[in-house]
Amino acid sequence: MTGRILLSAPDVGELEEAYVVEALRSGWVAPAGPAVDAFEREVAARAGVAHAVAVSSGTAGLHLALLACGASAGQAVIVPTLTFAATANAVAYTGADPVFVDCDPQTGNIDPVLVAQTIAELRAEGRTIGAVMPVDLFGTCADYNELIPLCDQFGVPLIEDAAESLGSSYRGRPAGSFGAAGVISFNGNKIMTTSGGGMLLSDNRALIERCRHLSTQARQPVPHYQHEEIGYNYRLSNLLAALGRAQLSRLDEMIARRRALRDAYAKVFASVDGVELLGADDEANCWLTSIVVDPSRAGWQASDLAQHLAGQNIETRPVFKPMHLQPVFAGARAVLSGASERLFEQGLTLPSGSVLTEHDRQRILETITEFLGRN
Ligand SMILES: *Cc1c(COP(=O)(O)O)cnc(C)c1O
Repeated sequence: MTGRILLSAPDVGELEEAYVVEALRSGWVAPAGPAVDAFEREVAARAGVAHAVAVSSGTAGLHLALLACGASAGQAVIVPTLTFAATANAVAYTGADPVFVDCDPQTGNIDPVLVAQTIAELRAEGRTIGAVMPVDLFGTCADYNELIPLCDQFGVPLIEDAAESLGSSYRGRPAGSFGAAGVISFNGNKIMTTSGGGMLLSDNRALIERCRHLSTQARQPVPHYQHEEIGYNYRLSNLLAALGRAQLSRLDEMIARRRALRDAYAKVFASVDGVELLGADDEANCWLTSIVVDPSRAGWQASDLAQHLAGQNIETRPVFKPMHLQPVFAGARAVLSGASERLFEQGLTLPSGSVLTEHDRQRILETITEFLGRN
């Protein structure tokens, strides 16, 4: 057996090294500097928005976006139940209550029909809805054609958790540009990385300036350290922004590699009854490729394949455990259809990293083919 194949390892090399060394030598070793400014401009341009503020994580960006939209204690914020915990945690930081909504069975993204139902229910009870925060799960954009008019109709701000979807688009419009604000993550496992970091995006300059202010300890622009409200230390390091600039210059190449891998998986499973790709959409960045296995048709379960791949030192993961099943959110309201629980039971995320070599790819595909031959 050979080396371990990881789900989504960082894809960094000499270019990234050169950018980081240059930033270090420039003397801008701080959470401010020319690389931060340039990175903000470049990511904003890529996502098709006017303004951006670089932050220390995607979670920090979501927290600031919620604060800027006025989310606060006693309010409800509608989020998908099928997501990474950071989406719901950011809501909890503001004191608002996350309300979990189930997903579309094909894409795993928040179900707009259930969102409409939830807004109507909460309104009827006299609750204030701070925001609706869809997630572009695994890089496939949520259904904005339905969600935007819905939020407009009820006057509820939409915040796009685009942590996973930089480089994707929806009907030609880039991910991160939907709603009052969008938030990208540059965590180590995302489509591109700064090791840790994020970017808050908006066309609304006042919203971005508000978030920039909150991210720098709410320091007033005077020399004597004046503060009129509680702030946060959420800025991105100039060294990490330099790393991000190198990554951004390679984003299209990295997306192409992930797409090729997804295409290869699609081919392997094309003739297998009961196996489908989750949310495979031509405009997605293909961050993670997941399959959904119906055991009554396939004759095997997602966990059987996971075990077989693990035996060959190949990492896989279940699809996210829904938030309404998490002990920490046990008391939260949830509007459910059963779709997210089914995806949790039947889904499996396969190695998807752009750093995987042709040899790695063959090893994965051969191991899957061997499994399918036996089952
Ligand atoms: C990664 C992720 C986040 C959090 O981003 P960090 O940069 O790790 O804080 C938020 N939401 C979703 C859907 C994510 O996948």
